[in-house]
Amino acid sequence: MTTATTARDALAAHATALDAADPLAPLRERFLLPEGVVYLDGNSLGALPAAVPPVLADAVRRQWGTDLIRSWNENAWWEAPLRVGDAVGRLIGAAPGQTVVGDSTSVQLFNALVAAARLRPGRPLLLTDPDHFPTDQYIADSVARLLGLEVRRVPARELPQFLAEQGDRVAVAGYTPVDYRTGELYDMAGTTRAAGRAGALMLWDLCHAAGALPVRLDEIGADLAVGCGYKYLSGGPGAPAFLYVAARHQAAFDHPLTGWNGHAEPFGMSGGYAPVEGIGRARIGTPPILSLLALEAALTAFDGVDMAEVRAKSLSLTAFLLHCADTLLDGHGFTAVTPRDPDRRGSQVALRHTDAYALVQALTARGVIGDMRAPDLLRFGVNALYVSHRDVLDAMRQLLDVVVTGEYRQDRFQLRTTVT
Ligand SMILES: *Cc1c(COP(=O)(O)O)cnc(C)c1O
Repeated sequence: MTTATTARDALAAHATALDAADPLAPLRERFLLPEGVVYLDGNSLGALPAAVPPVLADAVRRQWGTDLIRSWNENAWWEAPLRVGDAVGRLIGAAPGQTVVGDSTSVQLFNALVAAARLRPGRPLLLTDPDHFPTDQYIADSVARLLGLEVRRVPARELPQFLAEQGDRVAVAGYTPVDYRTGELYDMAGTTRAAGRAGALMLWDLCHAAGALPVRLDEIGADLAVGCGYKYLSGGPGAPAFLYVAARHQAAFDHPLTGWNGHAEPFGMSGGYAPVEGIGRARIGTPPILSLLALEAALTAFDGVDMAEVRAKSLSLTAFLLHCADTLLDGHGFTAVTPRDPDRRGSQVALRHTDAYALVQALTARGVIGDMRAPDLLRFGVNALYVSHRDVLDAMRQLLDVVVTGEYRQDRFQLRTTVT
Protein backbone atom coordinates (compact mmCIF):
# COMPACT_ATOMS: atom_id res chain seq x y z
CA MET A 1 0.00 0.00 0.00
CA THR A 2 1.26 3.48 -0.80
CA THR A 3 1.62 6.15 1.85
CA ALA A 4 -1.18 8.14 0.20
CA THR A 5 -3.60 5.22 0.45
CA THR A 6 -2.65 4.65 4.07
CA ALA A 7 -3.32 8.31 4.87
CA ARG A 8 -6.70 8.11 3.13
CA ASP A 9 -7.66 4.97 5.01
CA ALA A 10 -6.67 6.59 8.27
CA LEU A 11 -8.88 9.60 7.51
CA ALA A 12 -11.81 7.33 6.65
CA ALA A 13 -11.41 5.40 9.90
CA HIS A 14 -11.15 8.67 11.79
CA ALA A 15 -14.36 10.02 10.20
CA THR A 16 -16.24 6.82 10.98
CA ALA A 17 -15.12 6.90 14.61
CA LEU A 18 -16.04 10.57 15.05
CA ASP A 19 -19.49 10.05 13.50
CA ALA A 20 -20.14 6.96 15.61
CA ALA A 21 -19.45 8.97 18.77
CA ASP A 22 -21.52 12.00 17.65
CA PRO A 23 -24.48 12.60 19.99
CA LEU A 24 -26.10 14.93 17.44
CA ALA A 25 -26.01 12.45 14.52
CA PRO A 26 -29.76 11.62 14.81
CA LEU A 27 -30.64 15.29 14.14
CA ARG A 28 -29.86 14.80 10.47
CA GLU A 29 -33.25 13.11 10.17
CA ARG A 30 -34.85 16.44 10.96
CA PHE A 31 -33.70 17.66 7.52
CA LEU A 32 -34.63 16.64 3.99
CA LEU A 33 -31.31 16.41 2.21
CA PRO A 34 -31.16 14.96 -1.31
CA GLU A 35 -29.35 11.64 -1.77
CA GLY A 36 -25.79 11.92 -2.94
CA VAL A 37 -25.34 15.56 -2.00
CA VAL A 38 -22.74 16.82 0.46
CA TYR A 39 -24.12 20.13 1.65
CA LEU A 40 -21.55 22.56 2.99
CA ASP A 41 -23.41 25.77 2.18
CA GLY A 42 -25.75 25.99 5.16
CA ASN A 43 -24.00 29.27 5.96
CA SER A 44 -25.68 30.76 2.86
CA LEU A 45 -28.95 28.84 2.69
CA GLY A 46 -29.73 26.24 5.33
CA ALA A 47 -31.08 22.86 4.23
CA LEU A 48 -34.83 22.21 4.32
CA PRO A 49 -36.07 21.09 7.75
CA ALA A 50 -38.57 18.20 7.53
CA ALA A 51 -41.00 20.16 9.72
CA VAL A 52 -41.42 22.94 7.16
CA PRO A 53 -43.40 21.44 4.22
CA PRO A 54 -46.44 20.27 6.26
CA VAL A 55 -46.59 23.56 8.16
CA LEU A 56 -46.44 25.56 4.93
CA ALA A 57 -49.07 23.35 3.29
CA ASP A 58 -51.38 23.93 6.27
CA ALA A 59 -50.66 27.66 6.29
CA VAL A 60 -51.57 27.94 2.62
CA ARG A 61 -54.53 25.57 2.32
CA ARG A 62 -56.28 25.75 5.65
CA GLN A 63 -55.19 29.04 7.21
CA TRP A 64 -55.14 31.17 4.10
CA GLY A 65 -57.50 29.11 1.90
CA THR A 66 -60.24 28.34 4.41
CA ASP A 67 -59.87 30.49 7.48
CA LEU A 68 -59.02 33.53 5.36
CA ILE A 69 -58.81 36.82 7.25
CA ARG A 70 -59.99 35.17 10.46
CA SER A 71 -56.47 33.68 10.66
CA TRP A 72 -55.05 36.91 12.08
CA ASN A 73 -56.90 36.03 15.28
CA GLU A 74 -57.72 32.34 15.04
CA ASN A 75 -54.35 31.14 13.80
CA ALA A 76 -52.42 33.77 15.78
CA TRP A 77 -50.90 35.42 12.72
CA TRP A 78 -50.87 38.76 14.51
CA GLU A 79 -48.57 37.50 17.27
CA ALA A 80 -46.19 35.68 14.87
CA PRO A 81 -43.40 38.32 14.71
CA LEU A 82 -42.98 38.33 18.49
CA ARG A 83 -43.69 34.61 18.98
CA VAL A 84 -41.08 33.63 16.39
CA GLY A 85 -38.82 36.34 17.81
CA ASP A 86 -38.90 34.62 21.19
CA ALA A 87 -38.12 31.28 19.50
CA VAL A 88 -35.03 32.83 17.88
CA GLY A 89 -34.25 34.46 21.24
CA ARG A 90 -33.87 31.04 22.85
CA LEU A 91 -30.98 30.32 20.47
CA ILE A 92 -29.19 33.62 21.01
CA GLY A 93 -29.45 33.91 24.78
CA ALA A 94 -32.26 36.47 24.77
CA ALA A 95 -35.04 36.27 27.34
CA PRO A 96 -38.57 36.67 25.89
CA GLY A 97 -39.79 40.07 24.82
CA GLN A 98 -36.57 41.35 23.25
CA THR A 99 -36.56 39.87 19.76
CA VAL A 100 -38.81 40.57 16.79
CA VAL A 101 -38.78 38.87 13.39
CA GLY A 102 -39.58 40.52 10.06
CA ASP A 103 -38.03 42.10 6.97
CA SER A 104 -34.49 41.46 5.75
CA THR A 105 -31.22 41.77 7.62
CA SER A 106 -30.43 44.88 5.59
CA VAL A 107 -33.67 46.55 6.68
CA GLN A 108 -33.13 45.54 10.31
CA LEU A 109 -29.57 46.87 10.17
CA PHE A 110 -30.82 50.22 8.96
CA ASN A 111 -33.47 50.42 11.67
CA ALA A 112 -31.09 49.36 14.43
CA LEU A 113 -28.33 51.78 13.40
CA VAL A 114 -30.67 54.77 13.18
CA ALA A 115 -32.35 53.93 16.48
CA ALA A 116 -28.95 53.38 18.13
CA ALA A 117 -27.67 56.75 16.93
CA ARG A 118 -30.83 58.37 18.29
CA LEU A 119 -30.10 56.76 21.66
CA ARG A 120 -26.64 58.39 21.69
CA PRO A 121 -27.15 61.95 20.44
CA GLY A 122 -24.13 64.23 20.22
CA ARG A 123 -21.67 61.45 19.44
CA PRO A 124 -20.31 61.90 15.91
CA LEU A 125 -18.87 58.46 15.04
CA LEU A 126 -20.42 55.32 13.64
CA LEU A 127 -17.94 52.42 13.51
CA THR A 128 -17.89 49.45 11.22
CA ASP A 129 -15.40 46.82 10.08
CA PRO A 130 -13.65 47.31 6.70
CA ASP A 131 -14.10 43.53 6.23
CA HIS A 132 -17.75 43.52 7.26
CA PHE A 133 -20.30 42.03 4.86
CA PRO A 134 -20.92 44.68 2.18
CA THR A 135 -24.54 45.42 3.04
CA ASP A 136 -23.52 46.26 6.63
CA GLN A 137 -20.97 48.78 5.34
CA TYR A 138 -23.28 50.27 2.72
CA ILE A 139 -26.02 50.82 5.25
CA ALA A 140 -23.63 52.31 7.80
CA ASP A 141 -22.56 54.82 5.13
CA SER A 142 -26.14 55.69 4.27
CA VAL A 143 -27.21 56.08 7.89
CA ALA A 144 -24.22 58.34 8.49
CA ARG A 145 -25.20 60.51 5.50
CA LEU A 146 -28.77 60.65 6.69
CA LEU A 147 -27.92 61.64 10.26
CA GLY A 148 -24.79 63.70 9.65
CA LEU A 149 -22.44 61.22 11.31
CA GLU A 150 -18.99 60.06 10.28
CA VAL A 151 -18.23 56.41 9.50
CA ARG A 152 -14.89 55.04 10.68
CA ARG A 153 -13.82 51.62 9.45
CA VAL A 154 -11.92 50.08 12.33
CA PRO A 155 -10.83 46.43 12.00
CA ALA A 156 -12.53 44.19 14.57
CA ARG A 157 -9.29 43.27 16.27
CA GLU A 158 -8.47 46.95 16.87
CA LEU A 159 -11.95 47.86 18.07
CA PRO A 160 -11.51 47.39 21.85
CA GLN A 161 -8.48 49.69 21.78
CA PHE A 162 -10.24 52.29 19.63
CA LEU A 163 -13.18 52.24 22.04
CA ALA A 164 -10.83 52.70 24.99
CA GLU A 165 -9.20 55.72 23.34
CA GLN A 166 -12.02 57.46 21.46
CA GLY A 167 -15.12 55.60 22.60
CA ASP A 168 -16.72 58.70 24.07
CA ARG A 169 -17.14 59.99 20.49
CA VAL A 170 -18.77 56.77 19.27
CA ALA A 171 -22.55 56.47 19.01
CA VAL A 172 -22.70 52.91 17.75
CA ALA A 173 -20.34 50.21 16.49
CA GLY A 174 -21.77 47.66 14.05
CA TYR A 175 -19.73 44.43 13.95
CA THR A 176 -20.03 40.70 13.45
CA PRO A 177 -18.72 38.01 15.79
CA VAL A 178 -17.82 35.80 12.79
CA ASP A 179 -16.11 37.07 9.63
CA TYR A 180 -18.24 35.86 6.70
CA ARG A 181 -15.19 35.20 4.54
CA THR A 182 -12.47 33.81 6.80
CA GLY A 183 -14.68 32.38 9.54
CA GLU A 184 -12.62 34.16 12.20
CA LEU A 185 -14.45 34.46 15.52
CA TYR A 186 -14.09 37.60 17.65
CA ASP A 187 -14.62 38.19 21.34
CA MET A 188 -18.22 39.37 21.62
CA ALA A 189 -18.26 39.67 25.39
CA GLY A 190 -15.01 41.64 25.68
CA THR A 191 -15.92 43.99 22.84
CA THR A 192 -19.39 44.59 24.26
CA ARG A 193 -17.79 45.47 27.62
CA ALA A 194 -15.38 47.88 25.92
CA ALA A 195 -18.28 49.64 24.18
CA GLY A 196 -20.26 49.76 27.40
CA ARG A 197 -17.35 51.35 29.30
CA ALA A 198 -17.22 54.07 26.65
CA GLY A 199 -20.98 54.63 26.77
CA ALA A 200 -21.23 53.56 23.11
CA LEU A 201 -23.72 51.04 21.79
CA MET A 202 -22.74 47.78 20.14
CA LEU A 203 -24.80 46.39 17.26
CA TRP A 204 -23.97 42.75 16.59
CA ASP A 205 -24.78 41.16 13.24
CA LEU A 206 -25.35 37.50 14.09
CA CYS A 207 -25.90 36.18 10.53
CA HIS A 208 -23.03 33.69 10.90
CA ALA A 209 -23.51 33.03 14.60
CA ALA A 210 -27.22 32.42 15.25
CA GLY A 211 -27.79 28.67 15.24
CA ALA A 212 -24.09 28.02 14.67
CA LEU A 213 -22.66 28.64 18.12
CA PRO A 214 -23.83 29.66 21.59
CA VAL A 215 -24.64 33.38 21.71
CA ARG A 216 -25.42 34.87 25.13
CA LEU A 217 -26.84 38.32 24.40
CA ASP A 218 -28.41 38.95 27.82
CA GLU A 219 -25.47 37.51 29.73
CA ILE A 220 -22.87 39.70 28.00
CA GLY A 221 -25.02 42.81 28.34
CA ALA A 222 -25.57 43.22 24.59
CA ASP A 223 -27.39 46.32 23.38
CA LEU A 224 -28.67 45.46 19.91
CA ALA A 225 -28.36 42.58 17.47
CA VAL A 226 -29.68 41.54 14.08
CA GLY A 227 -29.36 38.40 12.02
CA CYS A 228 -30.92 36.50 9.17
CA GLY A 229 -33.27 33.54 9.30
CA TYR A 230 -32.03 31.60 6.29
CA LYS A 231 -28.43 30.61 7.15
CA TYR A 232 -27.82 28.39 10.19
CA LEU A 233 -31.45 28.82 11.31
CA SER A 234 -32.55 27.11 8.06
CA GLY A 235 -35.70 29.23 7.73
CA GLY A 236 -35.71 29.12 3.91
CA PRO A 237 -34.91 31.48 1.05
CA GLY A 238 -35.72 35.04 2.03
CA ALA A 239 -36.65 34.03 5.58
CA PRO A 240 -37.32 37.13 7.66
CA ALA A 241 -34.50 38.51 9.79
CA PHE A 242 -34.53 39.25 13.51
CA LEU A 243 -33.81 42.30 15.63
CA TYR A 244 -32.89 42.13 19.32
CA VAL A 245 -33.26 45.21 21.50
CA ALA A 246 -32.17 44.74 25.12
CA ALA A 247 -35.06 45.40 27.50
CA ARG A 248 -33.26 48.38 29.07
CA HIS A 249 -33.16 50.24 25.73
CA GLN A 250 -36.73 49.59 24.64
CA ALA A 251 -38.53 52.51 26.31
CA ALA A 252 -36.27 55.01 24.51
CA PHE A 253 -35.98 52.99 21.29
CA ASP A 254 -37.11 55.38 18.56
CA HIS A 255 -37.67 53.24 15.47
CA PRO A 256 -37.18 55.11 12.17
CA LEU A 257 -39.88 53.15 10.34
CA THR A 258 -42.95 54.04 12.37
CA GLY A 259 -45.30 51.57 10.75
CA TRP A 260 -48.77 50.90 12.07
CA ASN A 261 -47.93 47.42 13.39
CA GLY A 262 -45.66 49.03 15.99
CA HIS A 263 -48.39 51.37 17.21
CA ALA A 264 -49.82 51.05 20.73
CA GLU A 265 -53.30 50.71 19.23
CA PRO A 266 -52.87 49.50 15.67
CA PHE A 267 -56.61 49.16 15.16
CA GLY A 268 -57.42 52.51 16.78
CA MET A 269 -56.60 54.01 13.37
CA SER A 270 -55.40 57.27 14.89
CA GLY A 271 -53.50 59.72 12.70
CA GLY A 272 -50.61 60.13 15.14
CA TYR A 273 -47.91 57.60 15.99
CA ALA A 274 -47.55 56.29 19.54
CA PRO A 275 -45.31 53.22 19.87
CA VAL A 276 -46.44 50.20 21.86
CA GLU A 277 -44.47 49.32 25.00
CA GLY A 278 -41.72 46.75 24.54
CA ILE A 279 -40.18 45.07 21.52
CA GLY A 280 -43.46 45.32 19.61
CA ARG A 281 -42.47 48.88 18.69
CA ALA A 282 -39.88 47.37 16.35
CA ARG A 283 -42.66 45.93 14.20
CA ILE A 284 -43.28 47.83 10.97
CA GLY A 285 -45.99 46.75 8.54
CA THR A 286 -47.84 43.57 7.67
CA PRO A 287 -45.31 40.75 8.08
CA PRO A 288 -44.58 37.94 5.56
CA ILE A 289 -46.70 35.34 7.34
CA LEU A 290 -45.85 32.35 5.13
CA SER A 291 -42.12 32.95 5.60
CA LEU A 292 -42.58 33.58 9.32
CA LEU A 293 -44.41 30.28 9.75
CA ALA A 294 -41.76 28.46 7.71
CA LEU A 295 -39.06 29.90 9.96
CA GLU A 296 -41.02 28.98 13.07
CA ALA A 297 -41.29 25.37 11.87
CA ALA A 298 -37.60 25.34 10.92
CA LEU A 299 -36.60 26.38 14.43
CA THR A 300 -38.18 23.22 15.85
CA ALA A 301 -35.13 21.40 14.42
CA PHE A 302 -33.35 22.86 17.47
CA ASP A 303 -35.86 21.46 19.98
CA GLY A 304 -34.03 19.82 22.86
CA VAL A 305 -30.67 20.64 21.30
CA ASP A 306 -27.93 22.02 23.54
CA MET A 307 -26.03 24.80 21.74
CA ALA A 308 -22.87 23.78 23.62
CA GLU A 309 -23.11 20.40 21.87
CA VAL A 310 -23.70 22.13 18.55
CA ARG A 311 -20.55 24.15 19.15
CA ALA A 312 -18.51 21.08 20.12
CA LYS A 313 -19.56 19.24 16.98
CA SER A 314 -19.08 22.26 14.75
CA LEU A 315 -15.51 22.63 16.03
CA SER A 316 -14.89 18.93 15.53
CA LEU A 317 -16.12 19.21 11.92
CA THR A 318 -14.07 22.29 11.08
CA ALA A 319 -10.95 20.85 12.76
CA PHE A 320 -11.41 17.64 10.79
CA LEU A 321 -11.93 19.61 7.57
CA LEU A 322 -8.67 21.47 8.15
CA HIS A 323 -6.92 18.18 8.91
CA CYS A 324 -8.28 16.57 5.71
CA ALA A 325 -7.22 19.62 3.70
CA ASP A 326 -3.71 19.50 5.21
CA THR A 327 -3.39 15.78 4.52
CA LEU A 328 -4.97 15.52 1.08
CA LEU A 329 -4.44 18.88 -0.60
CA ASP A 330 -0.87 19.61 0.36
CA GLY A 331 1.12 20.88 -2.65
CA HIS A 332 -1.97 21.74 -4.71
CA GLY A 333 -2.02 25.50 -4.14
CA PHE A 334 -4.48 25.76 -1.23
CA THR A 335 -3.99 27.89 1.88
CA ALA A 336 -6.34 27.67 4.85
CA VAL A 337 -7.28 31.18 5.97
CA THR A 338 -9.52 30.12 8.87
CA PRO A 339 -7.87 30.30 12.31
CA ARG A 340 -6.75 26.95 13.71
CA ASP A 341 -7.28 28.12 17.26
CA PRO A 342 -10.80 26.82 18.09
CA ASP A 343 -11.52 29.89 20.22
CA ARG A 344 -11.06 32.02 17.12
CA ARG A 345 -13.03 29.89 14.67
CA GLY A 346 -16.70 30.13 13.71
CA SER A 347 -18.55 27.36 11.89
CA GLN A 348 -16.91 27.43 8.49
CA VAL A 349 -13.55 26.88 6.81
CA ALA A 350 -12.22 28.99 3.95
CA LEU A 351 -9.43 27.83 1.66
CA ARG A 352 -7.63 30.25 -0.63
CA HIS A 353 -6.84 29.13 -4.20
CA THR A 354 -6.34 31.13 -7.39
CA ASP A 355 -8.90 28.95 -9.22
CA ALA A 356 -11.48 29.09 -6.42
CA TYR A 357 -14.40 29.88 -8.71
CA ALA A 358 -13.89 27.01 -11.16
CA LEU A 359 -13.07 24.57 -8.36
CA VAL A 360 -16.33 25.34 -6.57
CA GLN A 361 -18.25 24.96 -9.85
CA ALA A 362 -16.63 21.60 -10.56
CA LEU A 363 -17.33 20.41 -7.01
CA THR A 364 -20.97 21.49 -7.26
CA ALA A 365 -21.33 19.47 -10.45
CA ARG A 366 -20.27 16.45 -8.39
CA GLY A 367 -22.88 17.18 -5.72
CA VAL A 368 -20.47 18.73 -3.23
CA ILE A 369 -21.96 22.13 -2.53
CA GLY A 370 -19.89 24.88 -0.95
CA ASP A 371 -19.51 28.39 -2.26
CA MET A 372 -16.98 30.93 -3.41
CA ARG A 373 -16.32 34.43 -2.17
CA ALA A 374 -14.43 36.78 -4.44
CA PRO A 375 -11.73 36.88 -5.33
CA ASP A 376 -10.20 33.55 -4.32
CA LEU A 377 -11.88 31.83 -1.38
CA LEU A 378 -13.57 28.44 -1.34
CA ARG A 379 -15.97 28.50 1.59
CA PHE A 380 -17.29 25.42 3.39
CA GLY A 381 -19.89 25.98 6.09
CA VAL A 382 -20.76 23.22 8.51
CA ASN A 383 -24.16 23.02 10.16
CA ALA A 384 -23.69 20.63 13.08
CA LEU A 385 -27.34 19.57 12.89
CA TYR A 386 -26.92 17.77 9.58
CA VAL A 387 -23.28 17.62 8.44
CA SER A 388 -21.14 14.57 9.28
CA HIS A 389 -17.40 14.02 9.39
CA ARG A 390 -17.89 11.61 6.50
CA ASP A 391 -19.40 14.48 4.46
CA VAL A 392 -16.37 16.61 5.22
CA LEU A 393 -13.96 13.87 4.14
CA ASP A 394 -15.96 13.20 0.96
CA ALA A 395 -15.83 16.89 0.10
CA MET A 396 -12.06 17.10 0.50
CA ARG A 397 -11.51 13.88 -1.47
CA GLN A 398 -13.66 15.17 -4.31
CA LEU A 399 -11.80 18.47 -4.22
CA LEU A 400 -8.50 16.62 -4.54
CA ASP A 401 -9.90 14.64 -7.45
CA VAL A 402 -11.16 17.74 -9.23
CA VAL A 403 -7.68 19.26 -8.93
CA VAL A 404 -5.65 16.19 -9.82
CA THR A 405 -7.75 15.36 -12.89
CA GLY A 406 -7.77 19.00 -14.00
CA GLU A 407 -11.54 18.68 -14.35
CA TYR A 408 -12.10 22.23 -13.07
CA ARG A 409 -10.29 23.61 -16.13
CA GLN A 410 -13.24 22.70 -18.37
CA ASP A 411 -14.86 25.73 -20.01
CA ARG A 412 -18.25 25.09 -18.43
CA PHE A 413 -16.77 25.68 -14.97
CA GLN A 414 -15.33 29.08 -15.90
CA LEU A 415 -18.67 30.70 -16.76
CA ARG A 416 -19.83 33.11 -14.09
CA THR A 417 -23.36 32.60 -12.83
CA THR A 418 -25.35 35.53 -11.37
CA VAL A 419 -25.14 34.21 -7.83
CA THR A 420 -21.82 32.88 -6.58
C1 LIG B 1 -25.83 37.08 4.96
C2 LIG B 1 -25.50 38.37 5.57
C3 LIG B 1 -26.29 39.50 5.33
C4 LIG B 1 -27.44 39.41 4.37
O1 LIG B 1 -28.31 40.51 4.38
P1 LIG B 1 -29.73 40.34 3.72
O2 LIG B 1 -30.38 41.65 3.89
O3 LIG B 1 -30.42 39.22 4.47
O4 LIG B 1 -29.55 39.96 2.30
C5 LIG B 1 -25.96 40.68 5.97
N1 LIG B 1 -24.89 40.75 6.81
C6 LIG B 1 -24.12 39.67 7.06
C7 LIG B 1 -22.96 39.79 8.00
C8 LIG B 1 -24.38 38.46 6.43
O5 LIG B 1 -23.61 37.42 6.66
